[in-house]
Amino acid sequence: MILHRPIPDGFKIKTAAITKKAEGYYITLSLQDVSIPKMTHNLPTMDNTMGVDLGLKSFLVTDDGEEVAIPQHYRKAQKLLQQKQRDLSRKKKGSNRRRKAVKRVAKAHSKVANQRKDFHYKIAKKLLAKGKNIGHESLNIKGIAKTRMAKSTYDAGWGQFLLILAVKAENAGLTTIPVNPNGTTQDCSNCGQKVPKTLQDRWHSCPYCNCSLDRDHNAAINIKHRAVGHLVLKAQVMPDAIAGFTEKPALYALA
Ligand SMILES: [Zn+2]
Repeated sequence: MILHRPIPDGFKIKTAAITKKAEGYYITLSLQDVSIPKMTHNLPTMDNTMGVDLGLKSFLVTDDGEEVAIPQHYRKAQKLLQQKQRDLSRKKKGSNRRRKAVKRVAKAHSKVANQRKDFHYKIAKKLLAKGKNIGHESLNIKGIAKTRMAKSTYDAGWGQFLLILAVKAENAGLTTIPVNPNGTTQDCSNCGQKVPKTLQDRWHSCPYCNCSLDRDHNAAINIKHRAVGHLVLKAQVMPDAIAGFTEKPALYALA
């Protein structure tokens, strides 16, 4: 076989899986690093935990406001794939040209999938280099993933990314914490009040506490708070801001 990387010292081969792809066969070895200690009990706190919001505009935004963009080459490859798919649809069934086009589409698919996976590994590594536990939206909440995916113009593959992130975090003695995403965009990360937004509203501008942030940055902070069980209470209320506001200021509790 063509070994792309040598098997590092100290690793033990545990399993081998063979898969057939358009361009040939692949063998996937799973290795165990015997030197890495088992995860130590690591309770998430405000200091040792970060929050990430999986975005539509960018790939993700952290609670520090750091943005991870979707790589350009990735969009390009996806466009190429669509073009090849159109090509294929114009070929006559059973023809030789069609068979060749099918192969080209399959190859382009593999390429996109491989690029995406590489990107996911790279971002997971970059995030975990901060040495923090990572809170993120749970994609298991019915409807959330679906509607977001549908609105996204590309397939970000968040499920795969979060899986990679969870495994890599554990290897580093860290943990990933899925949280309920309901309201993470609407709630003010500074005072907990609901600040309704439409999908077009890119900015969080709180009339209660004057907190002003990028929409996804605000969501990432809320996700961090939920991950560590940090409760945001209504902090300060500007009297001017609530003049004429009839709803009683209420204590805010996390779902
Ligand atoms: Zn606020």
